[in-house]
Amino acid sequence: MKTVINEAAREILVKYNVDVIVAGGGPAGIGAALGAARNGAKTLLVEEMNCLGGIATSGMMSHWCGGTVSPITSEIMDRCQAARWENEIERPGWVINHELLKLVFFDMMEEAGVTVLLHTRCADVVKEGDKVTGVILESKSGREAALAKVVIDATGDGDVAARSGAEYAKGREGDGGMQPVTLMFKIGGVDWDNAVFPGSFETRVETPKGELQALAKKLLPPPAGHVLLYKGTIPGQVVVNMTNLTGIDGTSNTDLTRAEITCHRQIPAIINFLHEYVPGYEHCYHLSSASVVGVRETRHFKGMYTLNEHDIVEARVFDDWIATQNRFNFDIHNVEGSGLDKNGAQHHFTCKGSYTIPYGACVPAKIDGLLLSGRNISGTHKAHSNFRVMPICTNIGFGVGVAAAEAVRENCSVRDVDIKKVQARLEAAGVTP
Ligand SMILES: Cc1cc2nc3c(=O)[nH]c(=O)nc-3n(C[C@H](O)[C@H](O)[C@H](O)COP(=O)(O)OP(=O)(O)OC[C@H]3O[C@@H](n4cnc5c(N)ncnc54)[C@H](O)[C@@H]3O)c2cc1C
Repeated sequence: MKTVINEAAREILVKYNVDVIVAGGGPAGIGAALGAARNGAKTLLVEEMNCLGGIATSGMMSHWCGGTVSPITSEIMDRCQAARWENEIERPGWVINHELLKLVFFDMMEEAGVTVLLHTRCADVVKEGDKVTGVILESKSGREAALAKVVIDATGDGDVAARSGAEYAKGREGDGGMQPVTLMFKIGGVDWDNAVFPGSFETRVETPKGELQALAKKLLPPPAGHVLLYKGTIPGQVVVNMTNLTGIDGTSNTDLTRAEITCHRQIPAIINFLHEYVPGYEHCYHLSSASVVGVRETRHFKGMYTLNEHDIVEARVFDDWIATQNRFNFDIHNVEGSGLDKNGAQHHFTCKGSYTIPYGACVPAKIDGLLLSGRNISGTHKAHSNFRVMPICTNIGFGVGVAAAEAVRENCSVRDVDIKKVQARLEAAGVTP
């Protein structure tokens, strides 16, 4: 039996020729497309799902985390507040209405003049030597090419950067262990007035039947075994972050298939647990689950600089900052089971203030024409657990997008961009170090 075949060479139509291609329309891709397009770059945003938002929407995320001060995330949250549905509660902007957010993102892209291409995967890259000059698109329309002066990889997993040959390592240093995956889901019928909402692994809730995190560890099908529940935007609805699977490589289709099936199968057991043990959830029912399992961690690329945990704890302000005022904790879910990893800290995290992301962490060490944006930038496993949250990824994206537009304007390599000019543009947009 054959074990390999040769794919026939073929001519591919160049369907797009733009300044900047953004691969992936999650928080980092949204930020990048806005940063590039608002600074004059002809921008194409390519997304494989049927909507924009990535984990925020397709992944059914509960809320934007962290204490970031940023014009771009504030703008998104303000727009969601302004468009609030009549039947929604008065909610803080960081609680997500997924359907509304999808529309807000479509509007923002249209207003910025970004060309959006959905249902399309960036399957490969076009290169000239060590320089990325475009991407190969794969969709119902077949294979097509898109060429650009700068390509920004905001695919979360860094699919484009990996295809370009950029150097990376998966997971944590030493053993490659990656954070577990979770399929988010939503329930209705919760008695909000009497319900509990444990929002972190470190939240302990005593009930007549026992403490909830301990009960979950004992009773849920492992590696599920913790309780994380977040109010939705409509009374009685709750977003559940309780399915859990370890040992999954989010860049493997067979692992992802196993993850989807296992996590879907955990949901009935979790709902039975909620009925039986969690106050206020006695009559809850399953409304819907995310369109895609949520992958927390995969590739970490080697950048001109690799952000580490000390930079974050020390609240470092880098000379080449492109995202500022970022603040979160080390949110490392247990790589081997349920709950928090022993290196993680949610409630009891201390750092000296908010930190910046250096441009160097977004520039691959060797490949040119390419920038990294979002959870795939160059960082250690521990640093990644902090900057991976959506507001910080959006901030990174915006900075990288502005830098890409500057490279286009100056007709220079992304690594030769005048960072002071980029920072001046960011400051003009309200980003302050
Ligand atoms: C289960 C879970 C819970 C989390 N909880 C929170 C939380 O409460 N609050 C918070 O702020 N953060 C949370 N996070 C972290 C956060 O959601 C992600 O780290 C963040 O969304 C990363 O942003 P991104 O844009 O880099 O990637 P993503 O959000 O993953 O977006 C990547 C986008 O690229 C698209 N894409 C991927 N590959 C390709 C390709 N080859 N071609 C075209 N398109 C492609 C994807 O479809 C997706 O739309 C959570 C993450 C997970 C998985």
